[in-house]
Amino acid sequence: MKIRLLVPAVGISVISLFISLFLLGHFEIYAQRERVVGPHVKQTASVTKVVSTRSSTFARAAAENARLRGSLTWVFGGKTQTGWTIYVPLISHTIGTDAAPESDEFALALSNWQGDSGILPSGILDAATLAAFTKHWQSRRLGRSGLISSDSLRAAPIGEFFDPTRAPDLLQLDQETYAAYQKMVAAAVRDLGQELKATKTGELAPDEKFFRIVSAYRSPEYQAALRRREPNAGRAALAKHSPHSTGHALDIYVGGEPVRTLDSNRLIQVQTPAYKWLVKNAHRFGFYPYFYEPWHWEYVPGK
Ligand SMILES: [Zn+2]
Repeated sequence: MKIRLLVPAVGISVISLFISLFLLGHFEIYAQRERVVGPHVKQTASVTKVVSTRSSTFARAAAENARLRGSLTWVFGGKTQTGWTIYVPLISHTIGTDAAPESDEFALALSNWQGDSGILPSGILDAATLAAFTKHWQSRRLGRSGLISSDSLRAAPIGEFFDPTRAPDLLQLDQETYAAYQKMVAAAVRDLGQELKATKTGELAPDEKFFRIVSAYRSPEYQAALRRREPNAGRAALAKHSPHSTGHALDIYVGGEPVRTLDSNRLIQVQTPAYKWLVKNAHRFGFYPYFYEPWHWEYVPGK
């Protein structure tokens, strides 16, 4: 009798245990689903919030950039400078965008570069950011490598020079630099097509001035004479230790007055196809710019 009663009781207990386990399991699955669904919904909401915050941030940054590109005050070479429009081609190349400087897209690309460079990723091209750019550009230039050994100098044909009456002792440059320059100009002639006058064999036509060498190697004596002639020229205009005395620096004709630092002249130069091409391509041939002088390029292979 006791056993008869016990069997159904055990049976009921086992069944209720199964029901409990089933409900518990079901609840757990439900709870898990809640946990999965819950944060996902929240995340979607916060992503939307982040995206809208970011786009309005960049709209504000873009408006600031539109204002600052012509008005930011900064100092370089002992002179007060205004705005950064002259440097837009270099900046755009450095941050990897072709977007207009007053666009949200430019501000976004700038903020990425700022983040990578360890500065506040505001998307605003302010004085601190401009200082970071100039430091970056200057770091790729020739160091104080001193005087060139004269056996690496060679004279280039007068036809390579901007001034066909240039003195014979001013036609020299480092021979490796000259070979790289020739390769670079051949590529520019191929790429720029109708923008340049070229011969049938793919060289610059004799009357084409763009890409011609304005100045190459300068002996320390010649540099000193230049400084004596212009004693009041700013530090940026005429350096005491010129990279030209290494034989690895070239002034290349990129438009306007060949080597004049006046803002209006440099604004003309930085808009020429020749300059824009150099900004995007010169590094492939080992040439890096001096940002302040659109015509000045230095051969620093492997840097
Ligand atoms: Zn120069």
